[in-house]
Amino acid sequence: RLASAMLSIENLSAWYAESRVLHGMSFDVREGEVLTLIGRNGAGKTTTLRSIMGVVRKRTGSIRLGAEELIGKRTYEIARKGIAYCPEERAIFASLSVRENLLLPPVLRSGGMSNEGLFKAFPNLQARAASQGTKLSGGEQQMLAIARILRTGSRLLLLDEPSEGLAPVVVKEIGELILRLKQQGFTIVLVEQNLRFAKKVADRHVVVENGKVADVLTAADLESGMDRVQSYLGV
Ligand code: ATP
Repeated sequence: RLASAMLSIENLSAWYAESRVLHGMSFDVREGEVLTLIGRNGAGKTTTLRSIMGVVRKRTGSIRLGAEELIGKRTYEIARKGIAYCPEERAIFASLSVRENLLLPPVLRSGGMSNEGLFKAFPNLQARAASQGTKLSGGEQQMLAIARILRTGSRLLLLDEPSEGLAPVVVKEIGELILRLKQQGFTIVLVEQNLRFAKKVADRHVVVENGKVADVLTAADLESGMDRVQSYLGV
């Protein structure tokens, strides 16, 4: 066990109705690191994020944020403890403007970005503030989805495939944003299929296989052992 673990997951199992998807996962997330969950489709990466956030309710084992147990807690309680979740589908509200989407989440803790701070940090969004959220490009929608959770004051960000479906130049921008957030002290867990992107942004990688942790790799391991990783991913 690491003394500096911000989030400790031990023997986590999770179910959708009777169907068991996670089978005793264990890993730690250190304060200030960027950690990816990688693995094949259906391995359980998204379910891991949804279990941390309490969106998947039926779960056993332990998920501790510092000393606090999150299993048994509801999503809104977990959010108030400082964890934010950005789902794969981004959940931009079509009937709301960019500004309204951005200002939608409640401020849950002190230390969140102010409205002015957000617009300064995301000048593209400021330029499009009055546009309808879904009129944005995929990359702008992803930026909006991430910007939105920065208001809440959360320090641990769970991002599900932020690079998915985006052009390479936009993927690069998202990568730069993630590194900026890391510099600002955020701790980030992201699901990622794009290994080149994962390699650029993350300190460590948790390989998920059949609802378990098959391996934990450092950035250097990933650099030197791409073959091994590709075999995990079946690519
Ligand atoms: P992907 O990248 O394809 O989303 P993943 O590793 O994130 O892969 P999960 O989405 O966590 O995998 O899915 C793990 C397993 O749980 C899969 O077998 C999937 O079919 C199943 N599953 C996911 N969501 C549900 C649900 N709402 N109800 C029932 N089964 C589900």
